[in-house]
Amino acid sequence: MVLDDIVGQKNIVRDIKNSLLNKRIAHAYLFCGPDGVGKSIAASILAMTLNCKAKGLDPCGRCPSCIRAQSGNHPDIIHFRAKNRSGSKQSISVDDIRDLQADMQKKPYENGVKVYIIHDAEKMTEQAQNALLKVLEEPPEKMVIILLTYNMYSILSTIISRCRVMKFTRAPERDIEAYLIDKAGVSAEQARYLAALSDGILKNALDFMDSDDLKAARNEIIELSRNIKYCDKIDALYSVEYFINNKDGIDKILDIMMSFYRDMMIFKECADKRLLINLDKAGMIQDECPKYTVGSLYNIIKSIKETARKIRLNVNYQLAIESMLLNIWEG
Ligand SMILES: [Zn+2]
Repeated sequence: MVLDDIVGQKNIVRDIKNSLLNKRIAHAYLFCGPDGVGKSIAASILAMTLNCKAKGLDPCGRCPSCIRAQSGNHPDIIHFRAKNRSGSKQSISVDDIRDLQADMQKKPYENGVKVYIIHDAEKMTEQAQNALLKVLEEPPEKMVIILLTYNMYSILSTIISRCRVMKFTRAPERDIEAYLIDKAGVSAEQARYLAALSDGILKNALDFMDSDDLKAARNEIIELSRNIKYCDKIDALYSVEYFINNKDGIDKILDIMMSFYRDMMIFKECADKRLLINLDKAGMIQDECPKYTVGSLYNIIKSIKETARKIRLNVNYQLAIESMLLNIWEG
C-alpha cells in the first residue's frame, strides 16, 4: 500500500506527503473521522514510511524494515488497542498508558522512529488521557504517536491542541466506484450500486461486495418494493413482517429502497441508463417506471426519507413502516 491508494482522502495524503517532504513530522497526530475511511491504513503507511530505509514519501515495500512491518512484526511500530474489561466494556486505562510510557523510554531498535498507533482513542479513560498528556508535553525524541478516533469530542482539548489534527471524511462515491473497478476487480454495474450504498465508506462497499447474503438481501428488497405496487392493500401491509424481522439492517434496507425509486424517477426524467445506481436492474427499472408518475415517485422517496428520520427518533417502528408501505402502495 502507498498513500495514494487511500480512497477519497486527497487532502490528507497531500498533507502527509508535504510533511515528509519538508521533514516536518509532528510528535503526535490525531486522525479523526468515521470508521472504515482509511485512518488505520494511513497511520500504518506513515509508520512504515518513517522507518523505511529508502527514505521516500511512501514505503518502498522491499527493505527489511518494510518487510517486517508488512508482516506485523516491526518492533518500532506498535499498534495499541483497547482491552476488554469486566462486563463487555473496552477501555484504555491509565495503567495501559503508563506501560506505553515505559516502553517509550527505550530507544528504537533499528535506529528509526518509534511509532505508537492508538486505535479507538476515544476509549481512553480521562485518567489515561491525562497520563498521555504528560507524554505529549515532553515527547521523547524519535517517537511519533498517532491517535485514531471516530469521535474527536471525546478527546481532551489539551491533547487535541498538542496534536496535528487530520480530519478524514467520507469519500466521494465516484472515488469508491473507481477503486472497486480498478483495484477490486468489480464490474462497473456492481461498483455503481456498491458505491451508492457505501455511505462514503470504502469498508462498507468491500463488506457488501464480499457478502452473498447482502447481495441476496438487496435483490429481495428491490423485489419486495416492486411487488407493493401489484398487491392489494392488505398484502402490502403484510410485508411489514420483513421489516420487523430485519430491524437491525433497516438503514440499509431503506437506502436500497430509496435507490430503486430514485432510479425510476431519474429514468422517467432522462431515459439514460448511465445515470442509474442499480445499473444491473436497468431493464426492470425501465419496465416498471411507466407505472408511476414523477410526482408519485417523489412522494415515495420523501416518505422513505421521513421513515428513516422517524426511526432514528425512536418512534413506533411498526407504525412508521406501515405508513410508509401505504404511501408506496398509493403512489
Ligand atoms: Zn522500505
